Amino acid sequence: MTNTFLLSIVIPVYNEENNIDPLLKRLLPVVKGFNYEIIFVSDGSMDNTNEKIKSKAKINPKIKFISLQRNFGHQNALTCGYNYTKGDCVITMDADLQDPPEIISQMVEKWKQGAHIVYAKREKRDVDNFAKKLTAYLFYKFINFLSDTPIPTDVGDYRLIDREIVDFLNNLPEKSRFLRGLVAWGGHPASFVYFKREKRFAGETHYTFSKMLNFALQGITSFSVKPLRLSTYFGFVASFFSIFVIVSKSIQHFILNQGDWLPGWASLFFSIVFLGGVQLITIGIIGEYVGKIYQEIQNRPQYLIKEKINL
Ligand code: UDP
Ligand code: MG
Repeated sequence: MTNTFLLSIVIPVYNEENNIDPLLKRLLPVVKGFNYEIIFVSDGSMDNTNEKIKSKAKINPKIKFISLQRNFGHQNALTCGYNYTKGDCVITMDADLQDPPEIISQMVEKWKQGAHIVYAKREKRDVDNFAKKLTAYLFYKFINFLSDTPIPTDVGDYRLIDREIVDFLNNLPEKSRFLRGLVAWGGHPASFVYFKREKRFAGETHYTFSKMLNFALQGITSFSVKPLRLSTYFGFVASFFSIFVIVSKSIQHFILNQGDWLPGWASLFFSIVFLGGVQLITIGIIGEYVGKIYQEIQNRPQYLIKEKINL
């Protein structure tokens, strides 16, 4: 089959000045055989990233550049990239060479064979530290327990998707996006290409622990209302338990004339604190969803564009 289709590659970048040259050095030979476009979305970079990319875009019109007004976050930068792609299939990847460009041909091959989604799946997480491995493991376990959409484990945002899914994403009214889940949500035929995740070439990860926690919460609340249901169940269990205790204590005291009413400060204390805790957690869970509704009805754009080159 001739390569008459257009392959789009979207790369969100946030302060990656030392990764641009090494990335293109490895990426360009891989895509040379394709009809391609590479869209860099600079997510409010404050270092030399923008200048580096612009100088490349000047000599190669297939390298396109969008600069956002400020840092809007990884998922929004990806969304912006998707909106500007024209390709028949679109690959998203990190700029830090953690996602090896060399497997792109395999991904495209799988797409040609009929897969609408091709995930690049991490074979091993050798390079990640224990905390990252553990949090990732727990996150996927938890989200798949809660969510009705199965989200594949050990895949990040390095994936190929067909134009059909890109159009679906671009037409979604949803503002706060958890793209990994949304891509899987449609149930399109998916396939995997395996790779070994390398160390970041230069710079440091932008996903700090608190950012990862936010990302996890975003993922869970985007794909499930089970936490709300669980708090209802929890409330029922706690109420039944307290009714059971009061009834059995009353029988003991009034009918059997046993037991003592006065001791029991500990249990009283425990139940007040316990129920207080349960209530706070429940309010917090409801708050997460209310906050999400609030943000959605504000209907603000997901990003603002400052500058575009070759687009
Ligand atoms: N990134 C971004 N906006 C952000 C944070 C990150 O565009 O607010 C980009 C970053 O430049 C990189 C990709 O998203 O190309 C993934 O980020 P990172 O490598 O820091 O995450 P990790 O691979 O450690 O999960
Ligand atoms: Mg990375």
